[in-house]
Amino acid sequence: METTKLMVNRKRLLDTINVSSSIGSLENGGLNRLALTEDDKKMRNIFVKWLREEKLEVRVDDLGNIYGRRKGTFNDSPAVAIGSHLDTQPCGGRFDGILGVLTALEVVRTLNENNIETDYPIEIVNFTNEEGARFEPPMLGSGGVAGEFTKDFIYNTKDNENISFQEALINIQYMGDEKHRLRDIKYFIELHVEQGPILENNNKLIGIVEGIQGISWLNVKVVGETNHAGPTPMENRKDALAPTAKMVTKVYEITNEIEGLKTTVGKLNVKPNITNVIPGEVEFMIDVRHKDDEIRAVTIDRLREQLGTIAVMNNVEVTISTDWNSDAVLFSSKVMDAISEAAGVLGYSTLRLFSGPGHDAKYISKMADTGMIFLPSINGISHNEKELTLEDDIEKGANVLLNTILKLARAQ
Ligand SMILES: [Zn+2]
Repeated sequence: METTKLMVNRKRLLDTINVSSSIGSLENGGLNRLALTEDDKKMRNIFVKWLREEKLEVRVDDLGNIYGRRKGTFNDSPAVAIGSHLDTQPCGGRFDGILGVLTALEVVRTLNENNIETDYPIEIVNFTNEEGARFEPPMLGSGGVAGEFTKDFIYNTKDNENISFQEALINIQYMGDEKHRLRDIKYFIELHVEQGPILENNNKLIGIVEGIQGISWLNVKVVGETNHAGPTPMENRKDALAPTAKMVTKVYEITNEIEGLKTTVGKLNVKPNITNVIPGEVEFMIDVRHKDDEIRAVTIDRLREQLGTIAVMNNVEVTISTDWNSDAVLFSSKVMDAISEAAGVLGYSTLRLFSGPGHDAKYISKMADTGMIFLPSINGISHNEKELTLEDDIEKGANVLLNTILKLARAQ
């Protein structure tokens, strides 16, 4: 059987994406489809209808994750799972994780219309609340099935209006059964837009994701003394903001010395934040990312030491605590090779890269050999109405996904 030249139906795929783009649509072409809202329900209902049309066995679990299972020759074998998420940010794009779910659907439609039977079963997955825009933290659906979060924790997270995840799930009638959760899988493949400019900058089409960078959030509290801006001589001040400026500069100096390190100071609070009062306290956050956990740890030690020195030299006190840590994830080389081979057969250029943001694949990688396919994001923009992945690239990405699945769903 010649399977390597099998191609998806471009028009059908783009039409399907267009239907999704009409649910929760915003004025400038983006989407507002927060998890477990009425629009999410509308999208889910259509998605379930599409799964049923393909004669897939549909399940919904107790976290609202939706699965569509296609039988395999060895139907008791673990399945090859493909998918991502259909929810968006409040001002999100049309592609993001949506592509991962809808290209998975197109893969199955293509297999069905060509009567191709795979050895292993295939499961399409839509994970609940990947974005974390309504319920924090992100990736609650995938994190739940992978054992990262307990059911209690997930059910009790609340949105801005104090509605719990559990209530919202019941409200949209997507409360399923725990026994339906994703369990015994052989592989998980997630196609996603890159959300960065690396593929575009390198003029490459298919991103073969090697893993997801580790992240630490450091909370830095600088304490000086509040005083009047007029009478207090400069030499007698304990200004917390002036040394903070030096600290922020130092963060980026250190960052520039370490290859592949990314740091961001994106949040800063000054107290009392009044024009004629010397700031007595400043609190800011540092987001630190690297693919190597060891390098991230060494960086954090260095930041502690150097910021501490700046504090001493400037007569203020500093405390640095770690608010959140998430270790780097390495994806399966077997999956990377399968993606690489599929792209090669189709004649598409590839680039191996690490993901900056987290994805459902991060947690599911604890359950099975996992990999991700990235497609170029124009200008690297995402979580924005302007997010754009070209139709040609979507079609080619879907073909890579199809051929990757054909390879991985074959008993070896
Ligand atoms: Zn996403």
